[in-house]
Amino acid sequence: MNHLSNEQLAGIAQQFGTPVYVYYAEKIKEQYEKLTTAFKGQDVVFFYASKALTNINILKYIKELGANVDCSSINEVKLALHAGFTPARILYTSNGIAFEEIAEAKELGVHINIDSISNLEKFGKTYGHSYPVGLRLRPNIMAGGNLKISTGHDKSKFGIPVDQIEKILEVVEANNIFVRNLHIHTGSEIKDVDVFVKGIEVLFSIIPRFKELESIDLGGGFKVPYKDGDHETDINLLAQKVGEAFANHPNPNGKPLQVWFEPGKFMVSESGYLVTEVNVLKQTNATTFVGVNSGFNHLIRPMFYDAYHRIENISNPNGPKQHYAVVGNICETDTFAWDRELNEVREGDLLVFYNAGAYGFEMSSNFNSRYKPAEVLVKEGQIHLIRKRDVFEDLLKNQVEL
Ligand SMILES: *Cc1c(COP(=O)(O)O)cnc(C)c1O
Repeated sequence: MNHLSNEQLAGIAQQFGTPVYVYYAEKIKEQYEKLTTAFKGQDVVFFYASKALTNINILKYIKELGANVDCSSINEVKLALHAGFTPARILYTSNGIAFEEIAEAKELGVHINIDSISNLEKFGKTYGHSYPVGLRLRPNIMAGGNLKISTGHDKSKFGIPVDQIEKILEVVEANNIFVRNLHIHTGSEIKDVDVFVKGIEVLFSIIPRFKELESIDLGGGFKVPYKDGDHETDINLLAQKVGEAFANHPNPNGKPLQVWFEPGKFMVSESGYLVTEVNVLKQTNATTFVGVNSGFNHLIRPMFYDAYHRIENISNPNGPKQHYAVVGNICETDTFAWDRELNEVREGDLLVFYNAGAYGFEMSSNFNSRYKPAEVLVKEGQIHLIRKRDVFEDLLKNQVEL
């Protein structure tokens, strides 16, 4: 198993201060290789869902690994271009955006998945058949770790509901739109590979109606283990089932269908660590609070998604086990963990949050006028600062003082 040692993390904390996000490049590589190995022999392309972690050095590293990139905004598209991805390796899976942004993506020459009939119609009227496009469909399947991260169900805002297929085809035909790709993304933290198979089955019922189709995009959402006993999505089984499904359903237009995936969390979650320091211990009749020098301004997942992050006291790894509530230092309830067993905690100890690579720094803010953490990349044994911690001027940067 590829991970950083307590000594390495403590050294980085010493060198760069805390709180600090640390990423281990070789773990990202291991995850990507799991995917490519499992799907060897199949025509599959992986687009890293960059919204999980967009530091430019991470994007460059993922480009070197050979993956493509999936973007959720035009700025992510521009970051991917800045990282050196060619437009052909960039996919923009939009949702709820203005048509101007789609037009901008088209000018940049990247792949586009359109997620509303309204924008599809504008696209058709503007470009006709001249530019291939993908359709982001909502398969009406319930899947994902919890409702907040489920995107494919029948009340979700994401995608064009598949039940509107006749309307979609009407718009496609009226404007002679070149539909090259069909996309679905049912949610995040999908453990059960049958969810993907179900998605494929939904698509098979409509594939014959798109005569110029070249690829099927099954989105992301592969699960990674957060706590002991958790399992990641069985990628080998997924590869086997996807292979079988497509072998049994050749594309009616004769072109072999390439399969796309958009893994975000799977690629970067386990590569990341948030290293914090204990400010205060507070004994109460209910619990002992451990107050660290961070909060949901740095790692929002526990409060936002009820996410579980493993926490270790790397300063006292052999201390006796005790139960604590681990909380942050901002003026909101920001509980990282209730009733968590940790090796005895003392003020000044370093607590490490694991699985902090995906949706960690990326969802951080300056709430309470606190600084965003620094980011550090460990690659080939070298330690690189890849984002400086904020300084006071950053808090005033775009303010217009009257
Ligand atoms: C967020 C997102 C992903 C990645 O989801 P993960 O759970 O991080 O794998 C993939 N595709 C789309 C369209 C997304 O919005």
